Amino acid sequence: MPIDATQPYDPGNIFAKILRGEIPCREVYRDDWALAFHDINPQAPLHILVIPTGPYVSWADFSANASAEEIAGFVRAVGDVARQQGLVEPGYRLLANIGQHGHQEVPHLHVHIFGGRQLGAMLP
Ligand code: C5P
Repeated sequence: MPIDATQPYDPGNIFAKILRGEIPCREVYRDDWALAFHDINPQAPLHILVIPTGPYVSWADFSANASAEEIAGFVRAVGDVARQQGLVEPGYRLLANIGQHGHQEVPHLHVHIFGGRQLGAMLP
């Protein structure tokens, strides 16, 4: 079920539990600003989720309320993950679902990284 992106942050959400180490994940990257791990239900040969370490429900929340340092750190981390995975050439896709119409299911901001094959045209 898609979430309401205007809801207050729920520290009991599944990605908060992953951040705290209460639930395992296949981690590929971690720094002060971000954690990246393999999606449990991959939609491409490489499907990684990058989440900020701070408590942000969605991109809408993060872009409005995170500090410049958090935003810079998170954006750099997303790029670093793609670089470390060897995706810069031939390329990859970033996606963030936001709220009901965006079909966001987990109420902690996550950016999907898709790669490892030729992706189709981006259609809604
Ligand atoms: O962007 P959206 O919220 O729709 O996607 C949530 C993603 O989180 C899904 O791709 C799902 O497979 C992934 N997920 C995960 N590990 C969990 C729960 C969900 O990788 N424990």
